Amino acid sequence: MKERSVKVKITLLLTILMTMLAALMIVFMLIFSNRVAMQTARKQLTDTLRTNLNYVELTEHRPSIQEGFSYAHNGIVSLIYNQNKALIAGQIPVGFQGEVPFENGVIQTVDAGDTKYLVLDMWIADGWEQGVWMRGLMEAPNHAVLTRNLLTVAGLTLPLFVLLVSLGSYHIMKQTFRPLDKITAAAEAIQEAKDLSGRIGITDGKDEFSRLAENFDRMFERLEHSFETEKQFTSDASHELRTPISIIKGACEYAMKYDETPEERAETIDMIHRQADKMAGLVSQLLSMTRMEQGVEKIKMETIALGDFLRNFSAEQHWKEEEIVIHAAESCLVEGNAELLGRLLQNLVENAVKYSPKQETVYIFLEDTKEEIRLSVKDRGIGIAKEEQEKIWKRFYQVDSSRSSDEGAGLGLSMVKQIAKLHGGSMSVESSPGEGSTFTLHLPRKNKF
Ligand code: ADP
Repeated sequence: MKERSVKVKITLLLTILMTMLAALMIVFMLIFSNRVAMQTARKQLTDTLRTNLNYVELTEHRPSIQEGFSYAHNGIVSLIYNQNKALIAGQIPVGFQGEVPFENGVIQTVDAGDTKYLVLDMWIADGWEQGVWMRGLMEAPNHAVLTRNLLTVAGLTLPLFVLLVSLGSYHIMKQTFRPLDKITAAAEAIQEAKDLSGRIGITDGKDEFSRLAENFDRMFERLEHSFETEKQFTSDASHELRTPISIIKGACEYAMKYDETPEERAETIDMIHRQADKMAGLVSQLLSMTRMEQGVEKIKMETIALGDFLRNFSAEQHWKEEEIVIHAAESCLVEGNAELLGRLLQNLVENAVKYSPKQETVYIFLEDTKEEIRLSVKDRGIGIAKEEQEKIWKRFYQVDSSRSSDEGAGLGLSMVKQIAKLHGGSMSVESSPGEGSTFTLHLPRKNKF
């Protein structure tokens, strides 16, 4: 059997529930209306007799009935009996037969064939022993008729009610579930096309479905990003590892054929070692960049006083004061990760040294402007042409690979930029060929005034 949709299921449930409620209401109405009808009848009977009391006068032990006495009104018949219970005024209804004992002030229910009567007697005293009886009679409300009438109305209206409820519920369900249909269709389209760039795109509304759609879109975005970075990693790694691998392979083949002396072999092994080192460095750098990009590792941020950090880092790296000169302002509080900031600084300083003549001094400046913290690495090296300054941040980009040293692969600055971004900051470069370059990290201050 075909699985019923949630819409149909909920509609069915709602219809059943509403029908049950309606049935319950009918039962309640039956009980209630019977009770109300009986109470109303009893009250009418009592009121009529009480009013009639005002129109009965007893003079010399004889009752005189004044004008205004109602003998038959609203289905209530009033009768006057003498103290011997003989009827002296009024007319007994045709259907009412049988003897009913007189009871003062008590409403009695009397069966008279098919009909039930309510009977109320009142003793109108005249002295100690004399007096007359006033009796009120009325047909008791007929439960069976009332019930039949109500059931007929219910029988006619209930199917209409059920139909209206089911149609109404289905319409509401359809409207409510429309975003879900959209989400399903979008997810199916993405799955069929195997294209993660698709989005559901329900941005209006704040209900559960809109939130679900937003979360789905965010998930697709993450998946797409993750997928792209992985693709990038695979292509970068295979592309960049190809060169050292072919160098190693070539060196091995050459060594097997021509290397004879231990010195020649040692030279080849040394070269293979260097290439393997380069490969290892490349892979670990690529991996850490990919991880950062994917946000796999949660980066722990802490408050760092950049001035102290800089001095400690310089000491750890054994930078010589005459080669790397530091001008650092006090404190400079930022929110950051010490390991990543160290990696960034190391990259910038290594580049500055690498692309400067030997013994040329490199300067590190740390400034606290009112707006931001600036950390600059300045060299007086070969510089970078204007048109290259945009490109150097890209992965694997090298201005002149023959000029770059053996260890570099053009990944350093791309990582530097990524670290700056992770800290909510940015990188900039000022450079002119032949004069030198200044790379600056701009970070938000931790305490803004
Ligand atoms: P590499 O491993 O080649 O140093 P980077 O990403 O660190 O890779 O740098 C990219 C390119 O930017 C380098 O190849 C180099 O041409 C240029 N570059 C980086 N820093 C400097 C600098 N301080 N002076 C001159 N050129 C630089």
